[in-house]
Formats: sequence, structure tokens, C-alpha cells
Amino acid sequence: MPPKPMEHPARKRFGQNFLVDQNIIEKIVAAIAPQPDQNLIEIGPGQGAITRPLLDKCPKLNAVELDRDLIPILQNKFQQYSGLTIHQGDALKTDFGQFYQEHNPLRIIGNLPYNISTPLLFHLLSFNKQIRDMFFMLQKEVVERLGATPGEKHYGRLSVMAQYHCKVQTLFLVPPTAFRPAPKVESAIVQLRPYDEPPYKANNPSLLSKLVRTCFQQRRKTIKNSLKLFLNTEQIGQLTIDLTLRPENLSVEEFVQLSNQMDALL
Ligand code: SAM
Repeated sequence: MPPKPMEHPARKRFGQNFLVDQNIIEKIVAAIAPQPDQNLIEIGPGQGAITRPLLDKCPKLNAVELDRDLIPILQNKFQQYSGLTIHQGDALKTDFGQFYQEHNPLRIIGNLPYNISTPLLFHLLSFNKQIRDMFFMLQKEVVERLGATPGEKHYGRLSVMAQYHCKVQTLFLVPPTAFRPAPKVESAIVQLRPYDEPPYKANNPSLLSKLVRTCFQQRRKTIKNSLKLFLNTEQIGQLTIDLTLRPENLSVEEFVQLSNQMDALL
């Protein structure tokens, strides 16, 4: 008798909702359009639903999976794919720069665990210079936050920082029925493509990042209120932005302008 395939119960604490809909899997892989020599990284391969069709198009792939029990299952399933390297570890702590090769920037893919998606996106943005593009399955609401514009309900810190670094494109929605177990929420696929040169350039990116974080920590207050944590009254008086605006009304361009003016004063 052939050996019984290993069973793996889905674990809620690891955000495990495994993709089972072949049409959706094909649609995701078609959107990524992997080419044989590319530098693919998959976050959270799970039981390999997307890993296999990716490997069939591009034999070299690094995968980062947190759940130790999935490692032997993946190794067993993909033993004939010598280009697959499985790294057991936490994607939140992974140095994605280690996978970068000159002239071969990273293409990062993942049906991400929804419980860590926001901190993971911020972590990944810190490697933006080494990334060619990213394709993620996320909770629909997180995709809406990534693409939101000023004044929209979902506009916030994630929207500003993602759009500062990347062109954000929502590709398509995915219903709960595409997964086992089915999540309670709708999902969507988003593509993030880091800019070689951002359309609005911050002279001090770390100041921009602190400014955006501080402003959205007090999103109901005016910008002036948050600026008091960075500048004195005289310096605030020299800024040309309308300080009565709330952060949710400031565009990415205006945040960058503001941070550049602040940088010149500090
Ligand atoms: N890619 C598979 C699929 O589409 O069927 C699994 C997707 S499931 C939503 C998320 C995967 O991420 C799980 O395999 C889970 O164990 C893994 N995971 C959860 N937290 C992680 C972390 N911090 N770092 C790396 N992988 C993680």
C-alpha cells in the first residue's frame, strides 16, 4: 500500500486558511507570471497550494514557514524540486535582504496569515530597494487600506507608507469558499510594486515614517497637534501646509512636503 499522505489540521494561531480553489490558484499564478530565472520568495507556503504551480514555472524558490509541523510535509511533497529551499522561521523576523541577488530583485508572494499582515507589510516595506514586486492575498479590508486615498474610511498609516514606497494595485476579490477552513471575511489579491524613485521624495524617510505614525496615532486631531511633538511654536509657524487639516485629509504628497519642510527646520 502506498504511504498515507500526512494530514495537517489547520491551526488558527498561525492564521492557517489553506487555498483549495484551483481556479483562484491559477489566477494568482497567472497574475504573478513567474519566469524561470526569477528570485521567488513565498511567505507561508502552508501545504504548498501555490508553491507547486510556482515551482513548475520557476524552479528556484525560497519559502519561509513558521509552523514546524508543516516543514516535513513540504519536504516530503516537494522532494523532487531541488530548487526549493524551505526556511523554518517567522517572516516578521526574517531578513529578506539575504535572498537578494544583484540584478535579480525579489518577487515576494504569499497568502498571508491575516493576524500579522499589517506588521508584516511594514517589515517588508523596509526591504523595498531589494524587491521587484509583491503579490499578497489579504483580508479585503487590508487591501482597501493599502489602496485608500485621503478622506476615505480606510485611509491611514498603512495607505500612506505603502503608497509612498509602492504602486498599489488591487487585482481581484476571493470569496471565503476558496479556503479550508473558510475565513469569516472576504479576501483580495493585491500587487505592490516598489518605485525605483518614489514620485514624491522624502529627504529623510525615517522622519516621514515617524511623522505619519504620530499623526495617525491621533487621527481625530489636527496636524498642528501632532507637530507639537516635533517642532516648537516658531518652527510650526514657518510651515506652509494648512495645519488645521486632520491626517486623514493629507495626501502622500502633502505628508512628504511636510516632512521635508520639517527636516529643513530640525
Ligand atoms: N500558502 C498556503 C495556502 O495558500 O494554502 C497557506 C496560507 S495560510 C493563510 C498562512 C500560512 O502562513 C500558514 O502556512 C502559516 O503556518 C504561515 N505563517 C503564519 N505565521 C507566519 C509567520 N510569522 N511567518 C511565516 N509563516 C507564517
